[in-house]
Amino acid sequence: MGKKERTAAIVLAAGSGKRMESSTKKQYMLLREKPVIYYSLKAFQDSFIDEIVLVVSPDDIEYCQKEIVKRYGFSKVKSIIEGGKERYHSVAAGLSRISECDFVFIHDGARPLVTEEILGRALSCVKKFKACVTGMPVKDTIKIADKEGYISSTPERKLVWMVQTPQVFDCALIKEAYDKLILSEKDLLKEGITITDDAMVVEKFTGQPIKLVSGSYENIKITTPEDIITAENFIKDRENRISSR
Ligand code: C5P
Repeated sequence: MGKKERTAAIVLAAGSGKRMESSTKKQYMLLREKPVIYYSLKAFQDSFIDEIVLVVSPDDIEYCQKEIVKRYGFSKVKSIIEGGKERYHSVAAGLSRISECDFVFIHDGARPLVTEEILGRALSCVKKFKACVTGMPVKDTIKIADKEGYISSTPERKLVWMVQTPQVFDCALIKEAYDKLILSEKDLLKEGITITDDAMVVEKFTGQPIKLVSGSYENIKITTPEDIITAENFIKDRENRISSR
């Protein structure tokens, strides 16, 4: 048998969640009486992952330490650190804190419906391809719009995926990509390029092909108020399935 790979997870929860229009940040809103962030941490805690770095806003470090990590016994959370202004700053902060590992799982704490099954599929994929992103083929036809709001093109639907997290990478590869991103940040800002996920950083700064792997249609990101209702229904459904076993 080969040596077990060492895996680390960066769970991101340093966003301000403006689109939720709520005084409570979306990562701390309650879903079936537990905060949104509990569910992703629970999936990582119960999985093969060796170490978790939780990235939050400076004001929330104490709350997360006491009310989430300690309260729910998330022993794999080795550090709770301060994030940055943009998501990619928070990822860079997380990458600087993980110890030696083979693979890094980067996950939006606002996706509470990630499962051990998804993590397992992503691990098999990254072992083979070095860079791997979870997602699902789109169900709707997607249109690319121009700046005036007219349709400019229609990509072939069977080739279009909506991507999710976790996004999983060989550790040296993702560190190299983020180091290059931080060095080029000023130029990107000048060009008006917005970095919205980790695959984009690997695409832009390395020649590494990135493999897509199935996440699930349930693995939604909590962004707007109706997502809370959808997530709650999925969780209720899961609880019912477990209790009827
Ligand atoms: O804003 P968006 O929904 O794309 O954020 C995705 C994830 O990244 C969320 O879990 C959010 O808390 C996190 N994030 C972060 N630091 C930021 C912005 C977003 O950790 N500066």
